[in-house]
Amino acid sequence: MPAEHDAELETLKRNREKAEEVYFQVQTEFLAWKDRMVLETFKRLGNARPSATSPFSFPGHAAFRMPPTASNPLPTPTPKPKDRDAELFIYEWHYDADGKPDAGRAIRMMEVAAPRETFVEHPPYQYCTPASRNENAGMLDNRDAPFVPYPEDPTFPRDAYMTAFQDVQWVSDQKDPDAEVIEYETVRRLHIEHEFSAGVIDQVIQMTGFTPLRPSNDSGLLWAVSQRDLPPVIWGDGRPSSSKPQLPPNFSREDHSSNDVFRQINTGVAKFCPNLNCLTHNCRIHIDPAWGILTPPFAPTKPQLTSAELPVAVHGPYPRCGNDCFSLIDEDDMEDDGLAKVPLDRLSVLTSLFKVDPDASPCDLAVVCKMRCRDVFRHRKDTFDDVDIIPSPSLAPLPDKEKKKGKKTRTKKVDISGRESAISPCVHSGPCSDATSSCACLKLKLSCERNCRCAKDCLRRWEGCNSTCSKSKSCRRSSKCKCRLANRECDPELCVACDARDGQAYFPDDVPQAGRGRKCTNVALQRGIFKKIIVKKSKYGLGAFAGEYIRAGDVLGEYVGELLDNKEELSHRVIIHHHSKLNYCFGLGSGPADKYGKGGEIEPGTVDAQWLGNPTRFLNDSKPHNPNCVAEELRVNGECRLAIRALKSVGNGKELTLRYGDGYWKKAEEAEKGGRPMAVKTGKQRN
Ligand SMILES: [Zn+2]
Ligand SMILES: [Zn+2]
Ligand SMILES: [Zn+2]
Ligand SMILES: [Zn+2]
Ligand SMILES: [Zn+2]
Ligand SMILES: [Zn+2]
Ligand SMILES: [Zn+2]
Repeated sequence: MPAEHDAELETLKRNREKAEEVYFQVQTEFLAWKDRMVLETFKRLGNARPSATSPFSFPGHAAFRMPPTASNPLPTPTPKPKDRDAELFIYEWHYDADGKPDAGRAIRMMEVAAPRETFVEHPPYQYCTPASRNENAGMLDNRDAPFVPYPEDPTFPRDAYMTAFQDVQWVSDQKDPDAEVIEYETVRRLHIEHEFSAGVIDQVIQMTGFTPLRPSNDSGLLWAVSQRDLPPVIWGDGRPSSSKPQLPPNFSREDHSSNDVFRQINTGVAKFCPNLNCLTHNCRIHIDPAWGILTPPFAPTKPQLTSAELPVAVHGPYPRCGNDCFSLIDEDDMEDDGLAKVPLDRLSVLTSLFKVDPDASPCDLAVVCKMRCRDVFRHRKDTFDDVDIIPSPSLAPLPDKEKKKGKKTRTKKVDISGRESAISPCVHSGPCSDATSSCACLKLKLSCERNCRCAKDCLRRWEGCNSTCSKSKSCRRSSKCKCRLANRECDPELCVACDARDGQAYFPDDVPQAGRGRKCTNVALQRGIFKKIIVKKSKYGLGAFAGEYIRAGDVLGEYVGELLDNKEELSHRVIIHHHSKLNYCFGLGSGPADKYGKGGEIEPGTVDAQWLGNPTRFLNDSKPHNPNCVAEELRVNGECRLAIRALKSVGNGKELTLRYGDGYWKKAEEAEKGGRPMAVKTGKQRN
């Protein structure tokens, strides 16, 4: 309809003009305030007062103290400098509040004899950020150079290093904070004073330089403003920002008042870290959409009980909620109008709860939604048609033969020698054990973890060591502990028999052994139960030494650093290795054959402790002797991590050593001869 369309355009045009007018007004007021603000700050800094003589005076404003010039020399202090010993004095003047120097004084310098003893040079040390856990390096590790290393060292091949990156991190598009203040005030006035709705504002700022209001929950102008303190601007009417009516907190936010609990859960779930070892909300270390590491949203759960099965299933032999419980009333006797009297907002909460747990007891849901359980039951019946309900295979009674078969498959050993260290729970339809399944755990040959979205009775699920460790009191190395044998640490939720949740070293020394109960010894990495390591000079540069007596089998620490899972060019890291003659890369995800090998190249999974690490990075190669420590890959709640373990008992003060593996030295030799940095393209090729 052209007429209607024209009217719409006309409104948009009018709104744009209004918005523009407000915007320029705000801008003018802001700039006036800023000018005043800057001058006031300068005044305070200079401790200045008006002066007619100073060449630095602003008209009507401050004057600044001036350094001495030829026309305005400093007074000569005593003693007067003589040519002979002039270099043995330094001179000092103090200034008064008016900027006038005093008479000045000379300070005689003393000659100090250089000490005769010679200092022993400290071994080269590569600084690094102390860390207690691995951090994912960026997915595109060669995209942005974070900084220029060795700025004071002319021998560092800076150009080669910088060309290995596509860009630099310190030159990025950042919103001018002033523009943000002006935009926010414009939006505030448009809404409060001119009654523009969020939708209209978003429409008028389209195709302008304005930041959109709130394109998602954690982006846009309103989100950005909520993340920082705005400056206390005094606007044109002489009143500060803080005295003005603010935008409502939910301005431009999608309407969540619909009571859609399910949707709210899925909005929130993305903020939870998928790494079970991490409790950081909105974690920026593990949640990485580029890596595909995130907690996926939940799909609505399908009901498995028909309305005929429900009363029996939810109550079993247990008491009903009361005499008028839905399970005691014949369906035909439930009056029809009951449901119609329930307020709509409660019904919509209920509908959304059905997506979370459709087989929950109607009596429980009735309490949550403040309704009668018979109304819950009826609404469930309206929502799910009995003929569409497919019972779960685990709920359906199995014939004896099938039961046995099921048991057999369950005990089948799952190969967990996966190469990936990054973890996300699997989410897909169908069982994980099916050969045609798209299950990520299956593809990586990993067990399903606690947070996988598969059925609770999934055959790939890790079950913990309850079957092997219920009698023995700890999951010792020598024991048959299922977790140990699978190179896993015990799981605090699953390994109940060994009490992994409350195990190892949670007791102060004065608690007698007998009172300590079961004690899982297979939780060192997740608990951070490590040994004292001292870093000091060793035969080759710095080395790591035992800071206490260490028993064979003890975990000393975790080898941590930047986690590289790269399928791309890493030449910049190689340049650093060549230049510093230090290489802190440790291969991760190399199968058991390479278990003792320190990676000399970037492997598919690599922990690089060059810039981020802890004392375990100082463990030297044991050559030509046997090492007293070994690096071990352990799965810790699904995550692949490197434990440094003592092979034999090590006395306090003894040096700790590892075997780096032949590949490491071969690569290092090549690097030494070649001079030019090697581009290690994909980690797949290994020595
Ligand atoms: Zn995390
Ligand atoms: Zn799966
Ligand atoms: Zn899984
Ligand atoms: Zn599974
Ligand atoms: Zn165990
Ligand atoms: Zn266990
Ligand atoms: Zn255990």
